[in-house]
Amino acid sequence: MSSSSSLFPMMGQMPMTGGPTWLGSTPRISSLLIKPASAVCNLDCSYCFYLDRDADPYKDLPARRMTDDTLERLVDTYLFYSHPQSTFAFQGGEPTLAGLPFFEKLIRFQQQYGRNGQSVSNALQTNAVLLDDNWAQFFRQYNWLLGVSLDGPEEINDLYRYNRAGHGTWKRVMQSIECLKKNGVDFNILCVLNAANVERPREIYQFYKSIGIDNIQYIPLAEFNPDGSRMPFTITPEQYGRFLCETFDLWWPDRKKVRIRFFDNIAEALAGQKPGSCTMHETCDSYCVVEYNGDIYPCDFFVEGGWKLGNIEVDSWTDIARRSRRYGFAQKKTLAHPECQVCEYQSICHGGCPKFRHGPQQRFEDLDYFCSAYKMIYSKATGPLRQELKKILGREVEAPAMHSISPY
Ligand code: SF4
Ligand code: SF4
Repeated sequence: MSSSSSLFPMMGQMPMTGGPTWLGSTPRISSLLIKPASAVCNLDCSYCFYLDRDADPYKDLPARRMTDDTLERLVDTYLFYSHPQSTFAFQGGEPTLAGLPFFEKLIRFQQQYGRNGQSVSNALQTNAVLLDDNWAQFFRQYNWLLGVSLDGPEEINDLYRYNRAGHGTWKRVMQSIECLKKNGVDFNILCVLNAANVERPREIYQFYKSIGIDNIQYIPLAEFNPDGSRMPFTITPEQYGRFLCETFDLWWPDRKKVRIRFFDNIAEALAGQKPGSCTMHETCDSYCVVEYNGDIYPCDFFVEGGWKLGNIEVDSWTDIARRSRRYGFAQKKTLAHPECQVCEYQSICHGGCPKFRHGPQQRFEDLDYFCSAYKMIYSKATGPLRQELKKILGREVEAPAMHSISPY
């Protein structure tokens, strides 16, 4: 496990490159989220956004695995485009379904096509049920950062996270966590906040601490029926806000040893850095999704025909970065709701995530569903974090100025 302190240096779920964000006037694609098995998964979690999604363009295709040829082209072209810092993150569905030999080939291609001095980082988000010593030794050898999905103690996790036979996953995931620790792999926990755990912040936080976890991301669950009503496991903004505020109080005495991604991100924004989480960026253009067949999309929540940007077999990264559709998607976040325009946290929050604006009514111009939760935690956390940053940086930190000019 990472032993770095919680405030500096910081790294989010998607490792951010330290390189330039802009390439001339073209927003650079600063990292890739690669789906080698598309949305295919070996589990059947009841709340999963990806399973059997009608808008998924690949839903009915039986064999969805990235071929060696596509992998080689991806590595070759992206290393060339992104030099000197290249970030590859793998997600699904479940990316380990691609098999360990796939990832061994990835490393060989990175070694073959990388140039002297090029920095390459790899990360992977997994449900962890396939991991064993072979996987762990591979991740350790090449310094991967892993995200492991686990929603808390057994009875909470297994309420929604189960396999296709309906059996809970907790015991198997805990075995994998022990295996990762034993092999010295750097990993964090991704906890989906759902109806089963959102009212239990103390129990959840103490559970993670009791098993030695020092790096946690809480992801709020918000899925809606076509008529806009909440699905049963979806949490309310008030629940999310209360969870964050109580967790902040629990975390504060541990802040030098435990990292909670959202709190790190708030500190990053207050310190004038670009936060690790895209939801707090000004626009939606920091990364691209690569599907198993080389198709490119601007965001994992919008892998839909209408948002396809191109395909790596026929398009260069420079052309993909300049596609008007990419600008069109990025701009969605700048459709500031009237409430955001007068919000004191606008320069930190930037209106939240378009997925949570679009969710209930399919309108990008709506207010983020979790807005009131953001206001609760910003109101609670910005003061203490600002004081802490003052101690670390030796100067006052003010909230960044409100942005009135968008790059678009
Ligand atoms: S829609 Fe949300 S998740 Fe997607 S890039 Fe924008 S902020 Fe990030
Ligand atoms: S806290 Fe709410 S009103 Fe303020 S910028 Fe974020 S989404 Fe907009």
